[in-house]
Amino acid sequence: MVENIKKLVIANRGEIALRILRACRQLGISTVALHSEADREAKYVRLADESVCIGPSAAAESYLNIASVIAAAEVTEAQAIHPGYGFLSENPDFAERVEQSGFTFVGPEAETIRVMGDKISAIAAMKAAGVPCVPGSDGPVPNDPEEILAIGRKIGFPLMIKATGGGGGGGKGMRVARSEAELLENIEMTKKEAAAAFGNDVIYMERFLEKPRHVEFQVLADTHGNAVHLGDRDCSMQRRHQKVIEEAPAPGITDKQRQEIGNRCAEACRKIGYRGAGTFEFLYEDGEFFFIEMNTRIQVEHPVTEMITGIDLLQEQIRVADGAKLQFEQKDIQFSGHAIECRLNAEDPDTFVPSPGRITQYHMAGGPGVRVDSHVYSNYFVPPYYDSMIGKVITYGMNRQEALVRMNGALQEMVVEGIKTNLPLHLRLIRDPNFAKGECDIHYLEKQYGMS
Ligand code: ADP
Repeated sequence: MVENIKKLVIANRGEIALRILRACRQLGISTVALHSEADREAKYVRLADESVCIGPSAAAESYLNIASVIAAAEVTEAQAIHPGYGFLSENPDFAERVEQSGFTFVGPEAETIRVMGDKISAIAAMKAAGVPCVPGSDGPVPNDPEEILAIGRKIGFPLMIKATGGGGGGGKGMRVARSEAELLENIEMTKKEAAAAFGNDVIYMERFLEKPRHVEFQVLADTHGNAVHLGDRDCSMQRRHQKVIEEAPAPGITDKQRQEIGNRCAEACRKIGYRGAGTFEFLYEDGEFFFIEMNTRIQVEHPVTEMITGIDLLQEQIRVADGAKLQFEQKDIQFSGHAIECRLNAEDPDTFVPSPGRITQYHMAGGPGVRVDSHVYSNYFVPPYYDSMIGKVITYGMNRQEALVRMNGALQEMVVEGIKTNLPLHLRLIRDPNFAKGECDIHYLEKQYGMS
């Protein structure tokens, strides 16, 4: 159980707000739901012990408003704030303000978020900690064209130019250069784009991997110097750098590889004084892992790891934020079976245009090995202001085949009427023989389905 946190503010919305609420209930913590005007009727708001409206529908005026979030924690006399994912979850200034105001931030220290939020410093920290990284410029790109070309030749072509301040997906501030001429040209363009998008024009270069898979490792660390890894997830099914399907464990990765890279991630956590749940993202190609970035928060795809380890990541995240020691050591963590997650979006399955509106009929799939994490219900209105994800369908099986069969059944059973969803796309993917084989690369979805 938890000792210090009696009441926790959920500084998020949607399915993750509900997921945080469920973890709090099981830990005996009372909850404060924050919501915008558009989310007044949300399920997590009704289920919470208290709720506070923190502003108008636009996220910038509500979920992203640091002063409002902290004020809500003050008036409700809560002890902790959980940021979920997205919104303020990886904003170091927010984490700092939360702690300065005397609350517990459910996440790492602000300084850790700052270091990991800057890709150049994150790569430097990881390299120093023994995590394999993509060979690259190891620092900002200089101004002199000759020096740029010299670095480019050393890395080799094709290479990728990336903004150090980039992030949040979408592939903004990233460009491939296939020749020396293209390198010089694209450097200038990427700089301009980075300055406009992130207010930071510092860029770096790294080797471009042609056909990698996205394989990431989940970690958990406490404030007593203990850290463990909870294995890997494959998130290669992506469209425009947005994950569509995730699974654990990553197909084709041997136990030896899993333990080796996982242990390095856990060791890196101990070295940098990491606290809480986190994810090390890697590109995996030809048997090699290359670190690309760290996410210092809980992730959308955390349930697949929960299913194969039996560990409630949200509860553990809150327990370590409370100051508790991890309840298990690396040797206690056992992986069993296979789990797959399909992200359900309110969007047109052909054009990907968001499809907000009222859900007239909703029925959730069930049965053995089926879990649906969703905040929606019949007659729920999907607001147009936020991310279009309306939930996640997760299935578990003794092996990948069983998880796939159960997913096929679960997707057929799901009913979401009144709005368009990407259910048809998921059904196609789950029945795709190449996906069934496993080990598709990050370009598969866009290439095979002509959807870039
Ligand atoms: P963001 O923070 O915007 O998500 P990432 O660094 O995580 O940016 O990269 C996003 C995606 O871009 C990756 O999942 C991968 O698909 C692609 N990518 C990034 N770096 C490389 C690289 N060196 N080679 C090939 N693809 C890359």
